[in-house]
Amino acid sequence: MIRSEAVRANLSAVRERIAAACAAAGRDAGEITLIAVTKTFPASDVRLLADLGVTDVAENRDQEAAPKAADCADLPLTWHFVGRLQTNKARSVVSYADVVHSVDRPRLVTALSTEAVRAGRTLRCLVQVSLEAGAEGRGGLTPAEAPGLADAVATAEGLELGGVMAVAPLGADPGPPFARLAEIAREVRKAHPAAKIISAGMSGDLEQAIACGATHVRVGTALLGGRQAIVR
Ligand SMILES: *Cc1c(COP(=O)(O)O)cnc(C)c1O
Repeated sequence: MIRSEAVRANLSAVRERIAAACAAAGRDAGEITLIAVTKTFPASDVRLLADLGVTDVAENRDQEAAPKAADCADLPLTWHFVGRLQTNKARSVVSYADVVHSVDRPRLVTALSTEAVRAGRTLRCLVQVSLEAGAEGRGGLTPAEAPGLADAVATAEGLELGGVMAVAPLGADPGPPFARLAEIAREVRKAHPAAKIISAGMSGDLEQAIACGATHVRVGTALLGGRQAIVR
């Protein structure tokens, strides 16, 4: 099958899953933003997705994302950055990203704020929460730290607090962690009512995320296929 037909079929299957999950949860599918995670795939795939009506794409490594975003600068896309972000990459990421999902420490807030002000733009930021029991998980700060970092984002020049993001722990039922994320999101919204984004759910668990109130799902494999392992 040619690539565009495969991606078209995958996209309609993912849209059907989202619609079914919304129906089951009594939600409107229009409340969900599908973000296509294009990491490891070429700019030509980003172009295909845009042709098929995808409006939002995500990348997790600046070295890969910067040239891809430049290649696709003519497309009307919203670019999301979802990976661990070093402060020395803040300037580059601010040059193409519209939303950073992985804000997890005060130093990064400062760096992103400085670069957004320098670039004369407003960057939407999500606070990434770790839903792991232990300290070292798949990135993010502890639930207790989230409201404080949300306050820091909300008051930083050049930044706008969009909400919260998390990745479910590997190999466990994602229901309870996603429910926990929804609680944290509620807590953050008490102080910041406009911070409505809950970024949760990937190829394997988007239904559970939507059941728990996710507004943005980040889907890679189910749209574009399996990824080759990247040697870093
Ligand atoms: C790669 C990635 C995804 C997409 O994962 P799939 O399982 O391929 O859908 C979502 N979120 C983040 C943060 C990622 O790094």
